[in-house]
Amino acid sequence: MKILIIGGGISGLSAAYHLQKTKASAQIYLIEKEKRLGGKIETLHQDGYIIETGPESLVSYKPAAINLCQELGLSSEIIPSIPENRKTFFFLKGNLIPFPEGIFSAFQAPFFRTVKTLAQTPLLSPLGKLRIGLEPFIPPRQEDDDEAAGSFFSRRLGREFFNHLIAPFLSGIYGGDTENLSMKSVLPTFYAAEKKYGSLLKAILANKNKKSSSQQIPPFVSLKNGLGSLIDKLVKSLQKNRIDLGKSVVAVKNLPGGYQVLLENGERVESEILIIATPVQKTADILKDLDPEASKLLSEIPSSSASVVTLGFDQNDLSTLSNSYGFLISPEEKFPFLACTMSSNKWEGRAPEGKFIMRFYANTILDDPEKSTNEFLKQLPFFSKIKKKPELFLVHSHPNVMPEYRVSHEKKMEQIQRALTRHPGLFLAGNAYQGIGISDCILSGVKAAEKAVTT
Ligand SMILES: Cc1cc2nc3c(=O)[nH]c(=O)nc-3n(C[C@H](O)[C@H](O)[C@H](O)COP(=O)(O)OP(=O)(O)OC[C@H]3O[C@@H](n4cnc5c(N)ncnc54)[C@H](O)[C@@H]3O)c2cc1C
Repeated sequence: MKILIIGGGISGLSAAYHLQKTKASAQIYLIEKEKRLGGKIETLHQDGYIIETGPESLVSYKPAAINLCQELGLSSEIIPSIPENRKTFFFLKGNLIPFPEGIFSAFQAPFFRTVKTLAQTPLLSPLGKLRIGLEPFIPPRQEDDDEAAGSFFSRRLGREFFNHLIAPFLSGIYGGDTENLSMKSVLPTFYAAEKKYGSLLKAILANKNKKSSSQQIPPFVSLKNGLGSLIDKLVKSLQKNRIDLGKSVVAVKNLPGGYQVLLENGERVESEILIIATPVQKTADILKDLDPEASKLLSEIPSSSASVVTLGFDQNDLSTLSNSYGFLISPEEKFPFLACTMSSNKWEGRAPEGKFIMRFYANTILDDPEKSTNEFLKQLPFFSKIKKKPELFLVHSHPNVMPEYRVSHEKKMEQIQRALTRHPGLFLAGNAYQGIGISDCILSGVKAAEKAVTT
């Protein structure tokens, strides 16, 4: 069985790894456009700093990534985020306000802890807090179709709750338009809680005896030498297979019993089975001739861009630094940045002795990153006394990288799946379908591989 995988990010590599593990006879061939594998996951080692150009953490409540690390012999490299600094702030009108913890894990947390957190947060006005108290009396929505996140939270808990507690968090993950994100695809537990209990507060109360699991397993982990170690291990384990770098696929054609793949350099490759694990807009281009309908549906999944600005300082050049993981920035502030991670506070060993590393995340490609960063730094209370420029300043831009799971995403997925049934042996993997995180991508690769071997 000859299987061709297009795209060597974590989705494509996971598909290849799973195929190798479960189908020893499969002849795996992977084609990657860039000169390196890993896609958005890349760690740089520079002057003693460990720099993540894209993702920086794995979430423990979706264990696929941690499981894969363990399977590849990386157990001793897994590091938790530093518990003492586990505080996040919210940057609003020039002030850093503590961001209440645990809103997104409320269904696993004790009821009274959640209520106390909400009652104490300065991010909600007294009226905003009263509005939460009305939630159990608001009748549940009767329709079974999807709903936009903005509408769902405003309806149940008030607009202020959405603007100050939900939107900043979602924009740090999904960038772009948080108002129209799909509840069914992005926050399915909240959607299901309303359906089952008629109220979110009642759903949390129904779980009142649960002990918070987040106390045992840290919610975020990383790898001692950066997430690039996961890619290195995966690539090493795939050594026996053919992997071509620096080759770009432009189109796919049908052949009897398989497919012919056209490369930009004019080469043609034939394969019985095809797994396309490229970013969704690229997948849409590749499928344009083979299936215009599937291609159009894929192209309709919008993707926002992202930039990561990494700064390294000598600690003596900084004034006081808060002991926190960083802060979210209100989208109302109109800054290009949505979040700041104080990487040295979050992970051990990210900077050499006496140095400090942090990163800013923007949901756009910055025209003049240095200017935007300097202007932003001046607004931050704890940076007001910066003595010198950062000694490390790196910008990594990721165009069209974050697929936006808009309302009815699930329906679109069904339509795409239906269109693809016309093409036996062709499967998709990636971050645009069943989740955007690294664990979701690993699972999408595994699922594509499983379907491939049962074809
Ligand atoms: C700034 C940033 C921060 C993030 N933070 C986190 C985080 O902390 N935790 C988390 O879980 N997730 C995070 N994510 C999301 C996560 O990193 C991505 O969703 C995931 O890495 C995507 O993997 P992928 O393999 O699907 O796609 P990609 O990594 O984009 O891989 C696709 C591959 O296909 C190749 N390709 C493209 N076109 C062609 C072609 N024509 N022919 C051949 N090959 C082609 C590309 O070169 C690329 O290598 C973050 C993402 C970004 C951008």
